[in-house]
Amino acid sequence: MLMLECREIPVEGYEKVVEAIDKEAGLHSFIAVHSTQMGPSLGGTRIYPYESTEEALTDALRLSKGMTYKSAMAELGLGGGKSVIIADPSKEKTEDLLRAFGKAVDTLKGMYICAEDMGTSVEDMALIKSVTPYVVALAEAQSSGDPSRFTAYGTFRGIQAVAYKLWGTNSLEGKSIAIQGLGSVGAKLARILFWEGAKLIVADVNDEVTAEVAEKYSATVLPTDEIAYAECDIFAPCAMGGILNDESIPKLKCQAVAGAANNQLLEPRHGEELMNRGILYAPDFVVNAGGIINVAVELEPGGYNAVTARQKVDHLYQVLISVFNIAEKRKIPTSVAADDLAEHKLRYGIGKRNGLPALFG
Ligand code: NAD
Repeated sequence: MLMLECREIPVEGYEKVVEAIDKEAGLHSFIAVHSTQMGPSLGGTRIYPYESTEEALTDALRLSKGMTYKSAMAELGLGGGKSVIIADPSKEKTEDLLRAFGKAVDTLKGMYICAEDMGTSVEDMALIKSVTPYVVALAEAQSSGDPSRFTAYGTFRGIQAVAYKLWGTNSLEGKSIAIQGLGSVGAKLARILFWEGAKLIVADVNDEVTAEVAEKYSATVLPTDEIAYAECDIFAPCAMGGILNDESIPKLKCQAVAGAANNQLLEPRHGEELMNRGILYAPDFVVNAGGIINVAVELEPGGYNAVTARQKVDHLYQVLISVFNIAEKRKIPTSVAADDLAEHKLRYGIGKRNGLPALFG
């Protein structure tokens, strides 16, 4: 018999934050629901060997708030939530741990819906599903599957929006694009851009992956500590967050930044620093919404449909153009324009969903 203890932690500005512990199962997790104003909160379950409980909680809080903005901006009828499990996924991820976590998710009765994230897989989601219905993105035909394909496609559309704003054309023929990180999203983005005629510059800490991508797509390889400073038209961060900071911004040699990585600005003020340098920044939470847009299609009355998902991801282009135009008109950083637009949608309930999706009965 597994012993699950759930404790609610009051956090200002958050609807519900739960710490769930099951010592026997090795579970120590946090589920953060930032907002359900637009619908049930949906966000990935991250398993990571955090150094402290504070670090894990901070990550859950930060990421769940980000999900509120991302889903509001894309008008998905979903709120913002995220969960983190303190464990090393390569050694400590057990079936008992995942089941105990699933029970914790179940106690929220649909207020939070989980999906795969760093450290979790679609197989893990299937296991969690054995104890709670509030799971999406499974490895089934009716499910939305691997979100990174759609994140990569959405990032490509974001890059096209940048091209249109800068050069008045969607064509990327001959444009140089530096991709930092060639994982699930970065490698797929490289493929799309290659076939669009872009000249690629790439870097990844994994030399094997870098060599493979470079060969397939005729890309120039740069050391990982130089890729951000590559002389290029567009820099596409697709690895870690915080890459746009006091140290990196003065050294950037690109005209624009548009990539999939979450939380690219180390601090909000770095959006202004980019504007002051005349670098067009495509706000990350708009550019990288393709994955969540794809998952959200699972919750539609007719169930998942890849064509619908692609059409919805396409729309990111238009959203970005609106963000760029608002920023230009108001002479504000694009990051501020994006936050303002998402907050406007939240304030007026634009895209709000009433009740739980039919999938959860
Ligand atoms: P991933 O783990 O598959 O890939 C990340 C890649 O970055 C890895 O290949 C890793 O070796 C490389 N990397 C790590 N540190 C690096 C460094 N210093 N320099 C160069 N490369 C480095 O992750 P992913 O799913 O491709 O996601 C990439 C980014 O996009 C993350 O920030 C993620 O949060 C964000 N994101 C992903 C999705 C998605 O659908 N997968 C959706 C939204 C946002």
